Amino acid sequence: MVRHVAILGSTGSIGVNTLDVIRSNADRFQVVALTAGRQIERLADQCIEFKPAIAVVSESSDAAHLQKLLLEKNIKTQVLYGAQALVTAVIESGCDTVMAAIVGAAGLVPALAAASAGKRVLLANKEALVMSGNLFMQAMKNGGGELLPIDSEHNAIFQCLPNEFAKSPHVSLGVEELWLTASGGPFRNTPLQQLTNITPEQACAHPNWVMGRKISVDSATMMNKGLEVIEAFWLFGLPLEKIKVLIHPQSVVHSMVRYRDGSVLAQLGQPDMRTPIAYGLAWPERIDAGVVPLNLTQLADLNFSEPDLARFPCLALAFAAAKAGGTAPAVLNAANEVAVAAFLDDGLPYLQIPLVVEKTLNAVSPVNADSLETVLNADTRARKIAHEFICSP
Ligand code: NAD
Ligand code: MG
Repeated sequence: MVRHVAILGSTGSIGVNTLDVIRSNADRFQVVALTAGRQIERLADQCIEFKPAIAVVSESSDAAHLQKLLLEKNIKTQVLYGAQALVTAVIESGCDTVMAAIVGAAGLVPALAAASAGKRVLLANKEALVMSGNLFMQAMKNGGGELLPIDSEHNAIFQCLPNEFAKSPHVSLGVEELWLTASGGPFRNTPLQQLTNITPEQACAHPNWVMGRKISVDSATMMNKGLEVIEAFWLFGLPLEKIKVLIHPQSVVHSMVRYRDGSVLAQLGQPDMRTPIAYGLAWPERIDAGVVPLNLTQLADLNFSEPDLARFPCLALAFAAAKAGGTAPAVLNAANEVAVAAFLDDGLPYLQIPLVVEKTLNAVSPVNADSLETVLNADTRARKIAHEFICSP
């Protein structure tokens, strides 16, 4: 069967890797929709190569530019723009599979649309699940589609769970704990006083993974692992106390499941997102991902240790927000997005990121996250407050 794939965020790191796996398996996949924020030239090249039915960009002027580039090459892709067009790409492109790879809260509404429409959802956009875990999982259930985690840790855990899990999540299956591994990022051993002058380039230079800028900063602060704890909570339905984080600097063991009988199952591989992407695209089959084979004899050591919450306050804040529940994770996520953008683009000092998140969490009391409107309101409020803290700390 040929899968018809829509890629939300096709010009990003995950999007480009997804197209690479599809390119190597052209007989199995047809690309029917591609979307991007602003990288119009790259999106044009992708449309010329993959000829999707629909392409979406954020702004109308960019849509006109893209349309012109495509007409010059006689490509008949329909070009749309704006947030609602992302939902159109999911609903009207004829896709059965959606790669949700927009970064941040901007990806929430189209990812929810894919869930409700019963698509196979390949979820890279962890922020969507962090913001609206309950609503998202309910939408998946009502839609009747399949949810395949693409985040490497969650994909690893999914691979270490029995197949029954995919059909009926939230059953016990003898799982005692999930161990999420974390590299510790570029500042795992940096003396704390040197963190004051960290630049965006230093924060984005991840030791093992090549990723978009926002998630790279999140990896440096370990907010990424905090978001992933919340992501795992919703995906796998275990109590928070059973989700543990282990620092594992080599990024070879992508995560583990500890079972009641003493067994611990792990998934190992290169730090290359094409492995989880290929797994999600072809599940339950396995396809070539173009990934270099892992050679264990060339690895010196595999180390594991507990994270230091004083060094990584963002991880502690994420645990606190997860425990508070309701809209607290949406507030955490929004404040973090604002703080990281201010660090990357406007000179906010690196060490201010956790302070902005903490102040915002303290200022916005959580309420039940029982509707999309409530979640989006919490997101808007948190962004406003985080901006105010940044402007007048
Ligand atoms: P990226 O910044 O490289 O790409 C983001 C994509 O989203 C781009 O196509 C961009 O054009 C699009 N986009 C950004 N803002 C948008 C907006 N407002 N409206 C519409 N489109 C918009 O990011 P990435 O590294 O590919 O990460 C994407 C998602 O996958 C994130 O949620 C990230 O946490 C998750 N993820 C990434 C990796 C990785 O290795 N890169 C690993 C695990 C999870
Ligand atoms: Mg991850």
